[in-house]
Amino acid sequence: MADVEITIHGAITYGVDYATVNCPTCRATHSHQIRGDLGDDTVPVTLTCLNGHDVPLPDASELDPRELLFTVAMRAE
Ligand SMILES: [Zn+2]
Repeated sequence: MADVEITIHGAITYGVDYATVNCPTCRATHSHQIRGDLGDDTVPVTLTCLNGHDVPLPDASELDPRELLFTVAMRAE
């Protein structure tokens, strides 16, 4: 398994109230890029917005970043 970099179109929602992941810099809620490594869980999963800003991932108890990466990777195939 290698590094992956996948564009997610549409809002990312999480948690009981379905809060939306948005960029703290430009407030973008649509089209993020997620990066990580499907085979190595020591590689952190990162998220950036359409404009390349770093977007903090929500608390892992709300949305597991690796789970999100896998879900997106499945969908992209
Ligand atoms: Zn941004």
